[in-house]
Amino acid sequence: MDKKGSKPGLIGWLSDALLSPASPEDSAYDFAGIARAVFEASREGIVITDAQSNILDVNAAFSGITGYAKEEVIGNRPSMMKSGRHDGRFYSKMWAALKSEGSWEGEIWDRRKDGEVYPKWLTIKSVKEDDGAPRYFIGVFSDLRDIKRFEDRVYRLANYDALTGLPNRALFIDRLDQVVARVSRGDYSAGVLVVNIDRFKGINESFGNVAGDRVLVDVSKRLAGCVAGEDTVARIGGDLFALIVDGLRSPMDAAAAAGRVLDGFKDPFTVKGREVFVSLSIGISMYPHDSSDPDVLMQNAEKAMAHAKKQVKEKYQFFVNTMNVDVIRRLSIETNIRKALEDGGLVMYYQPLVDMRDGRVVGMEALVRRDQDGWAAPPASFIQMAEDTGLIVKICEHTLYTACRQTREWQDEGLPPMRVAVNICAQQFQGNRLVGHVRDTLAATGLDPNFLELELTERDAMNNAEATIHMLNELKVMGIKISIDDFGTGFSSLSYLRRFPVDTLKVDYTFVKDILSGEGGGMIARSIIDLAHNLGLKALAEGIETEEQLDFLIQYGCDIGQGYYLSRPLPPEGFKTLVKGNGSLLPRAKKGG
Ligand code: C2E
Ligand code: MG
Ligand code: MG
Repeated sequence: MDKKGSKPGLIGWLSDALLSPASPEDSAYDFAGIARAVFEASREGIVITDAQSNILDVNAAFSGITGYAKEEVIGNRPSMMKSGRHDGRFYSKMWAALKSEGSWEGEIWDRRKDGEVYPKWLTIKSVKEDDGAPRYFIGVFSDLRDIKRFEDRVYRLANYDALTGLPNRALFIDRLDQVVARVSRGDYSAGVLVVNIDRFKGINESFGNVAGDRVLVDVSKRLAGCVAGEDTVARIGGDLFALIVDGLRSPMDAAAAAGRVLDGFKDPFTVKGREVFVSLSIGISMYPHDSSDPDVLMQNAEKAMAHAKKQVKEKYQFFVNTMNVDVIRRLSIETNIRKALEDGGLVMYYQPLVDMRDGRVVGMEALVRRDQDGWAAPPASFIQMAEDTGLIVKICEHTLYTACRQTREWQDEGLPPMRVAVNICAQQFQGNRLVGHVRDTLAATGLDPNFLELELTERDAMNNAEATIHMLNELKVMGIKISIDDFGTGFSSLSYLRRFPVDTLKVDYTFVKDILSGEGGGMIARSIIDLAHNLGLKALAEGIETEEQLDFLIQYGCDIGQGYYLSRPLPPEGFKTLVKGNGSLLPRAKKGG
């Protein structure tokens, strides 16, 4: 037999060495000696037995892995290390394979000397005499504990939420799959509860993200305490949790489970030493009633949750089929907006901003419209939707660019210099992208920053006031003007207002509408004009629709006016014609007043 080439691998080597223990006289090297060296140095455990399974020899790695010294095992059988995890059939199969094929390979769980049951990967080979009868068995094994630990870690990472230790969405769907399979064989049903924390953003903003994380952990514990032991609780998103409730006789049982969860949140949480009440909104979908597909069950429960969010009293809602309708509508609107962005279906209208002293057009507010079969639809029909889908930033960037380019074009055509006011949205200044974007847009369009005014609503400005101040300062340095839109509706903190580097307060149209209506609107409009002046700012009134409103505002010193009475928002050509042809937009009698 060719000792070097016939049986490759460690076991082949060892078998050859066992069958010809003495080194041939004529050999250039000592094969058996090398085999022994390999045997001793191997990192895999090796055990050699005789045909009756009595252990003849083991190597150092064997002792390292099993904990048994050589002297303790020689003469014993490998079965001394049995863990009891495998039944008789397992070992019969192993022996049958050794008999018929001369080898066996597989994962086996044994017991170490210290009692630990551990997995190993074992290869056994019989070493046969020339007559085919087995003379020795060689077992070579590697410790699978590290691999198993690694696999466990990978499994945990892939299936559990790192913060709360709860199952994640993937594992939740998996469990739901199992529940669906089990329930379909019984005559009961199961429910999926999707649970969202109300105003969680507020907790993060008020107490910081670390405290927010702590709340999520506490919420997860409380949720787990609200369900039966076998029911699954998972964290499937930021402040979104999901529960499976199993073995339900009727939807009332699911409602009762939701009620228990809500009851569990009656007591406050302690956040940074303060008591904070956390309320929840819950959506419920039922198997098999609503769907038998776990993904669809989840989606339906999430839709129901969104409806629950809007309720003041009924904080849990069952899924009903009509909830699908607005989602489909939403999707089609989203697709339409995307298309509009691509094929120029969004157009800008411009509404004159009028100097109240002489009626001159000193600027224009750029207002986006959606071209629907030649009809310019105002943003109310799609801005909210765009906000929900995240498309809003694209729209805002588009409008900023278009407005700047248009203004520069008019300047090049010789129109009197005017500034353009562009609305910006809260999402634009997340992640501090706005300043860079504005700078790029001005560079790309060639518009002088002195002709750009950015409008942000009072609400957005106050939302994260410190960051806003920082951002506005940067814009200010560039020469850009800032106005606070819809002023009076957003609960300004006056101390912040003083620190905002703004130029103009825009009196919200609701107060203008109430002028002379006896609802106190006139008084508020007046107060805002005074406040602006006291802070050294300009006052602009929007939504002026009547001559009386105009008179009132002029009388109380409002600096700039905007509204249908002066001019509606106009498409670019209309705006250009208006500015070219008309010196003043005020009725003759008011000028100079
Ligand atoms: P806003 O910035 O307060 O804009 C003023 C709104 O009042 C505009 O509505 C304008 O058409 C309307 N308006 C002007 N004069 C009168 C009037 O005399 N009477 C009445 N009833 N309304 C008047 P529009 O264009 O529908 O815009 C609504 C809101 O949508 C805007 O409020 C602004 O917050 C947002 N928006 C509009 N265009 C854009 C845009 O390009 N980007 C962003 N981010 N938001 C925009
Ligand atoms: Mg505006
Ligand atoms: Mg406004």
